[in-house]
Amino acid sequence: MSEAPPRLEARNLTKRFAGKTVVDDLSLRIAPGQVTCLLGPSGCGKSTTLRMIAGVDMQDAGTISVDGALICDTVYRVPPERRSIGLMFQDFALFPHLSVGANVAFGLSGAKSERTERVRHLLDRVGLAGYHDSYPHELSGGEQQRVALARALAPRPRIMLMDEPFSGLDNRLRDGIRDETLAVLKEEDTSVLLVTHEPEEAMRMADDIALMRGGRIVQQGAPYNIYNAPVDKEAVAFFSDIN
Ligand code: ADP
Ligand code: MG
Repeated sequence: MSEAPPRLEARNLTKRFAGKTVVDDLSLRIAPGQVTCLLGPSGCGKSTTLRMIAGVDMQDAGTISVDGALICDTVYRVPPERRSIGLMFQDFALFPHLSVGANVAFGLSGAKSERTERVRHLLDRVGLAGYHDSYPHELSGGEQQRVALARALAPRPRIMLMDEPFSGLDNRLRDGIRDETLAVLKEEDTSVLLVTHEPEEAMRMADDIALMRGGRIVQQGAPYNIYNAPVDKEAVAFFSDIN
């Protein structure tokens, strides 16, 4: 029996800006249903990697496949909106002129009754059932973050890309929102690539950690293994601020 292909596979991705290589022959696999954290210090190329996978930046070399089907090489390119990839960034980027319900419904197609039910279910699930007709500016940062999660999940993407989605939140809220977000993602059975520069966040949320440095992945594995057997002295130092 052949094994199922990875949900997402990036092979030999390379990106240069003005002759400087910022993502360097990077290969990465994400198994279905797993939360993989791309973890590394600021400036190591995490966001650039995510943008290539999302399709908003074009790589200089390498390929990207979803469920074994090629979505992008340096010639062929499935447009971002047809990749079945959900996006969530640090600034939640809700549409300010649309209600909460309309924000969540934005990427949905299909019958009206199904769209309405999907929006209702997700708002209920993220604890915002009473906010359908509110506007983003009427919500707290944590509430806006939950609307952004509902909006990104609404079309049932096969993969969610999350770029430091919790870093704009108040420290006191962050752990709770991380846990709630993880529970919703697991329930929706979405595969996740979560970018973070915080080892603690990766340890808390990941099934699998890809440790990145200088545009490359230097180690990938289960959080326990990465934490207990860091690949080198720099990785030890990077993990040493967890308390
Ligand atoms: P991270 O998300 O890990 O902090 P980034 O992917 O944002 O890192 O950036 C990696 C490197 O690429 C940085 O040195 C950054 O300055 C550079 N970079 C990112 N985007 C651009 C761009 N559009 N033009 C030029 N340099 C860029
Ligand atoms: Mg970044």
